[in-house]
Amino acid sequence: MLASMKEGNVVQYCTCTRQIAWALLLTVLFVSMACPLWAASEKPDRVDLTWLSVTNWLFEVGSTRILMDGYITRIPEAAFSGVGFATATPMKPDEPAIRRVRDALGESGKIDFILTGHSHFDHSFDTATWAKLTGARIIGARSTCLQALAQGVPELQCTAVEGGEVLPLGDHTTVRVVRWNHSGDVSTPMGRVLYSPVELIKSPTLTSGTGGLRGGTLQDFPNGGGARAYLFTVQTAKGLVSWLYSNTGNADTFQKAAAVDEQFFKAQGFSLDNLTFVPPRAASQDNLRAAMQAATLERVALWIGYSDRRLMEAVGKVLRPHAHIPHHWDGLFTSFFAGVPFAYASVAGTQETAEECKKQTISLLAPQQYMDKYHLTAQGVTPIANDAIKQKLALPKPPAAPSAAERARIMAHND
Ligand SMILES: [Zn+2]
Repeated sequence: MLASMKEGNVVQYCTCTRQIAWALLLTVLFVSMACPLWAASEKPDRVDLTWLSVTNWLFEVGSTRILMDGYITRIPEAAFSGVGFATATPMKPDEPAIRRVRDALGESGKIDFILTGHSHFDHSFDTATWAKLTGARIIGARSTCLQALAQGVPELQCTAVEGGEVLPLGDHTTVRVVRWNHSGDVSTPMGRVLYSPVELIKSPTLTSGTGGLRGGTLQDFPNGGGARAYLFTVQTAKGLVSWLYSNTGNADTFQKAAAVDEQFFKAQGFSLDNLTFVPPRAASQDNLRAAMQAATLERVALWIGYSDRRLMEAVGKVLRPHAHIPHHWDGLFTSFFAGVPFAYASVAGTQETAEECKKQTISLLAPQQYMDKYHLTAQGVTPIANDAIKQKLALPKPPAAPSAAERARIMAHND
């Protein structure tokens, strides 16, 4: 199912009646499921943001609960090989682990929406399982929807977004979908595979025997034609709050969309049977500018994002966030329940990012442990220890710095 509400700058445009019909249907669907007709709930005082490892978050706005990504399974590092991170053995999500995290989050495990930033395994591998456990509506790339469909999620429970859509999530929250770029140095083969906007054509087939999917980026988990960032605005009782969530990025292709080189993929001999390329129509920074303008925002309170110094410099200019919470720096392979494997400050490149934040007078709020929480109000962001949930999950104290070798190994996969 494809959403077709497009918004470019301030002017909305639809090109055919089918698009208008979809737009109306989607609006009715979202409003009716998240907002009872008889009364809107009271405006909340604040937004609660909880980090659940990698790029996974729980956003709570009053009684509306939004999960971002939600990758709790850990596919072992040894399962991957080659520049496309191919997996020889298909795998299934770790449902007991997902249930344990869901239960720790309280409110009887209620989740209303699941938004995925892109469709690589470390972002959308568990999306279908969360949707089946909670009944939540999925919003993400077409590839995310096709992956969910393969795992038994009804087609109507997933909304594919291309960028430009404006969606209400509950009574007081609006999200604007911003078409984003993926990380990856376009001058290296692995970078090109990561960056190139690759989308599934049809729902992948569960492999007989394991009943699982193949986690590789050129197998069942391509990036979804690039990525999606989400610009949130919430009307609280004390004013508007806004933040951007993004889960990947690269300064070069953020500022100027790179051309897709299909010859490179052919020359490498990759099998692209169920994959297609979706070349970007605009640079991510222009998409972000258009969303900011449409939301009448000159700056946001917070950027939750994957960052490095150059990306911080580029995104900061457009977004002008008051604060930044970096994520996706904690590796992909250690168990959620073992906690953060090393401190943010010990990771290669983060010192430079911190200096860039200082230059732009952006408060850098690096999380220390999974389940770190933040209150976001019209006055700003306040870190909350959230000890009760950490104790419930027996998360350890934040660790000391790792060896340089270990750091290099883990950072090589932080995309
Ligand atoms: Zn990715």
